[in-house]
Amino acid sequence: MKKKLQILASALLITAVSFAQAPSDVASSTHPSSSTPPQSSTRPVSSVPQASYGPVHPSSSGASVRTNTMSLALRNVSTPHTSSHAQSTPARYSPASSLSLPALTRSSSAPPVPAYDLPTSPAPQALSVPTAARNAAPSGPHWSAPATGSVAQQVDPAMNAFITNLMSKMTLDEKLGQLNLPGAGDITTGQASNSDIAGKIKAGKVGGLFNIKSVAKIRDVQKVAVEQSRLKIPLLFGMDVIHGYETVFPIPLGLSCSWDMDAVERSARIAATEASADGICWTFSPMVDISRDPRWGRVAEGSGEDPYLGSMIARAMVKGYQRNLSGNSDIMACVKHFALYGAAEAGRDYNTTDMSHIRMFNEYFPPYKAAVDAGVGSVMASFNEVDGVPATANKFLLTDVLRNRWGFKGFVVTDYTGINEMIEHGLGDLQTVSALALKAGIDMDMVGEGFLTTLKKSLSEGKITQTLIDNACRKILEAKYKLGLFKDPYKYCNEKRAATEIFTDANRQEARRIAADCFVLLKNQGNILPLKKGGTIALVGPLADNKENMPGTWSVAADFSKSISLLQGLKDVVGSEAKIVYARGSNLDADSLFEERAGMFGKSLNRDHRPSADIIQEAVQTASQADVIVAALGESAEMTGESSSRSWIGIPQVQEDLLKALLKTGKPVVLVLFTGRPLTIKWENDNVPAILNVWFGGTEAGHAIADALFGDVNPSGKLSTTWPQNVGQIPLYYNHKNTGRPLAEGAWFQKFRSNYLDVSNDPVYPFGYGLSYTHFTYGDPILSSKSLKGNQKLTVTVKITNDGSVDGKEVVQLYIRDLVGSITRPVKELKGFQKIFLKAGESKNVIFTISTEDLKFYNGDLKYDWESGDFDIMVGGNSRDTKSVRINWVK
Ligand code: BGC
Repeated sequence: MKKKLQILASALLITAVSFAQAPSDVASSTHPSSSTPPQSSTRPVSSVPQASYGPVHPSSSGASVRTNTMSLALRNVSTPHTSSHAQSTPARYSPASSLSLPALTRSSSAPPVPAYDLPTSPAPQALSVPTAARNAAPSGPHWSAPATGSVAQQVDPAMNAFITNLMSKMTLDEKLGQLNLPGAGDITTGQASNSDIAGKIKAGKVGGLFNIKSVAKIRDVQKVAVEQSRLKIPLLFGMDVIHGYETVFPIPLGLSCSWDMDAVERSARIAATEASADGICWTFSPMVDISRDPRWGRVAEGSGEDPYLGSMIARAMVKGYQRNLSGNSDIMACVKHFALYGAAEAGRDYNTTDMSHIRMFNEYFPPYKAAVDAGVGSVMASFNEVDGVPATANKFLLTDVLRNRWGFKGFVVTDYTGINEMIEHGLGDLQTVSALALKAGIDMDMVGEGFLTTLKKSLSEGKITQTLIDNACRKILEAKYKLGLFKDPYKYCNEKRAATEIFTDANRQEARRIAADCFVLLKNQGNILPLKKGGTIALVGPLADNKENMPGTWSVAADFSKSISLLQGLKDVVGSEAKIVYARGSNLDADSLFEERAGMFGKSLNRDHRPSADIIQEAVQTASQADVIVAALGESAEMTGESSSRSWIGIPQVQEDLLKALLKTGKPVVLVLFTGRPLTIKWENDNVPAILNVWFGGTEAGHAIADALFGDVNPSGKLSTTWPQNVGQIPLYYNHKNTGRPLAEGAWFQKFRSNYLDVSNDPVYPFGYGLSYTHFTYGDPILSSKSLKGNQKLTVTVKITNDGSVDGKEVVQLYIRDLVGSITRPVKELKGFQKIFLKAGESKNVIFTISTEDLKFYNGDLKYDWESGDFDIMVGGNSRDTKSVRINWVK
């Protein structure tokens, strides 16, 4: 079967394939009243009232393109599979059940063999940024850490000399080989030298491999490279270590809701420690694509809609993975997907993006730049086009912006078959697009082998230069050097570490703590939550007793069977203090085909084949014995992630039917919402008394949810995205422009204003929103001055009081509005936040320091500067409910 798929996959590489789009079972969203809107007879522009500067009042079916046969083949990370890319080949995603390593595999060992004698260079220094400063410092996306400040970005004379010497010995073919990144292929432990890929490695035609798991396999393959290839150049081993390795943390969108940069960094550090202990030296993370479109399935992989928060997270992740790259648990990060992938039209994955350069620079680029400034070692180009040119061949992005403007010194890899896909984009044949990619600034070709198979010909025809090839090759060799692989190609192949540092109790405890801090309490009417540990609790829903879906999308290395389901978590946490009764209640979706598409990669939903009404009835009976009902509903893990766009983003109808039946029992109902994206849950918000959004919490999800439900942890997550009322409002985001005809403050609709006839402009939940089991009161912001000049600094002090009865954490947020600019400016922009802990009854002064760096933006000439004038300084617990003070700041 595997062989057959490989052949099929190779065929797909050269043959354009059109995938049949699965039929969509789109349900229609409910619209609020369509009653006749107020009319106005005239529309003279002069009658439009002046823009108000007051606070802004923001107030299913995913089509899968992987066939069943293909999904059946997704059994091992190192096994090729056909993907949704028209010309792609391998698998890189697997149910981890197939990945668990026999103890023997982990204990076989061989002494490290240094392949190269290296000149000694001074130990590189870590890029140190005081932790406290990170959360507090309002200087976000454009902090001044120079691009040369980290090892991955350093220019090192000893390294240069070493690589120049090595390259002088390399043939053209060997140089091209370094640019080649195939998927791992069919590698079996102990037989690497006979694997399909081994021949290429021996011939020096491979620069690295990805998604191969275990020290034993990686050591075997590395051995082929350093013992059997002519120049003994070690390989890079990459993997999609996206939100944890075997210990899985919440999906990145969830993690971003912690607003806790230490936690984000710690999660990346643990991921790096585990991955490196298993042989991996390079992760395809962080994914920092800003997205304002929850239809796009990959919102799950990013940090939401805000460039400032996204930048802070990008930086924390890079630091967590790489530190200074010198230790054997430091791995190279790869920021992706450069650029603008999250702005795909209509939220459809891989779709076109098109936006002004002002918007790119101000709203979408900052997190990528933050990763570069933090010293990220590599960048992945995105699939989409920008300005009519796919990112993979986009010189403006890869050279003008990334290298020339930002000073990036690492290497750029394509996304999976990104070069080949440019044939479908309509840019020419494989030789043409490969040359375009190299000329634009790509250094490494993932999977498609366009570089390997065509660049020699292009060189002989004068279509590319030797210098371009040399530069790309140098970048790859530099990465290997910086990782220390020339010194010790087996630096990451330590069986002892593999046996002791992966999926440890300590890591799982940390995953549990971090997950609980990511949950967002959306509603808690009548303080139903926290639940008492007593009486009878009915747990109902298709996601209640399910381990596989807990880690969420892109958990490549996880062993799903080891994650904690909600049912197990509740039982573990309450012990014998309360009785837990369980009923499934419904399937994920009434449509079995949809459910199949939403359960790919071995994440079974164990479909119940009885009629929906019977399953619901059984749950109602179970619930009738209980004091309280916990309904575990929402999306499955693979309803978001790559190739999981949805045109309607509600909770599937059959689950909503179940919810209605549960509410009818008259018992208190708590909705535990699993999701990888903002959902349209206006009805639920209006009708369900308590809603706890738990995303996909990772390995320890079940325990962490139980901790939050029973109040052992007080929820403190805040949304990093705006949650719309309906799909028609998308894109809906807090940092929008005012327009020339804004809606008056508090108005629902005004004729000839910027609004809708059928729905208000408000979201269901604004950016930054999230409740707690306690209550925080905000004092008025006290400013050091209301009139500032030049490079003075402004301090903003706000007294926050926990006036509830339990301890809790609050994310205090600071927003700025630049009232008049040479270009239009957003109605508010996040410029600082601090997550603080307050005991019940305690007060604290939170102090923000603002400098002119925080006022800067890219103007019409794309010059990054600030402009004199009035600014509103707003502080609050979310982007809607803020207290505002106006200042004046002149140059
Ligand atoms: C995804 C990337 C991922 C790569 C390698 C692609 O399909 O877009 O995010 O890193 O595959 O698995």
